[in-house]
Amino acid sequence: MIPGVRLIMLGRQGAGKGTQCVRIARHYVVPHISTGDILRGAVKEASPFGLKAKEFMERGDLLPDDVMIGIVAERLGRDDTRTRGYVLDGFPRTVAQAEALIEIAGRKPIDLVIDLEVPRELVLERLAGRRVCETCGTNYSVAVPPASGETCDICGGLVVQRADDTEDAINRRLDLYETQTRPLTDFYRELGDLVTVDGVGSPDMVLERLVAAVESSRRPGVRR
Ligand code: ADP
Repeated sequence: MIPGVRLIMLGRQGAGKGTQCVRIARHYVVPHISTGDILRGAVKEASPFGLKAKEFMERGDLLPDDVMIGIVAERLGRDDTRTRGYVLDGFPRTVAQAEALIEIAGRKPIDLVIDLEVPRELVLERLAGRRVCETCGTNYSVAVPPASGETCDICGGLVVQRADDTEDAINRRLDLYETQTRPLTDFYRELGDLVTVDGVGSPDMVLERLVAAVESSRRPGVRR
């Protein structure tokens, strides 16, 4: 049996984190924990929390750290993550969140942090063409639409443009990525947990690189 893994995926918006996290979670048979998906679920339910979250998300702003830390602490408290691990997608996004993760999950909460690297010019192009299933979150694009054109191949949900994929919100998110999330690469590099993986190429090629990075980090003698 393939051993489980505890992974954090960093990478700017449009780098392919969502797509690759689904695949890598399937490969290692671990839960894919996407804070963006959790929040979009709350928005869809239109709970008071969801309505508040929607305002932040549509502006391209980050939600407060304490709110996000509470959500992730609750999710990581469930049994499925204790037995096999997890792929964290969208958390941590600030140094305060990374510090809280150490509190939540113990001194060594992760096996590897992957920085999925795609240049800003290319992600702008990808984000403009990105489409997503509003029910299950599967990603498509104008270039690679679902087979039926408008409904999801997996669940039949409607495939739409995300409400926060407007030009203003995209630019705001990319700027916040540089100021709030980029410092995490130094944070994890100092802990010896960081590896950068080239995110340019077909989804299959990128997955192969990601699996190779995880496997080589497991080899004895690799400092982490
Ligand atoms: P993207 O990476 O394109 O911003 P996500 O689906 O990961 O997409 O997140 C969508 C939005 O959800 C973010 O713009 C932000 O408003 C909110 N969000 C998700 N994760 C976090 C987090 N860890 N901290 C603060 N806000 C978050």
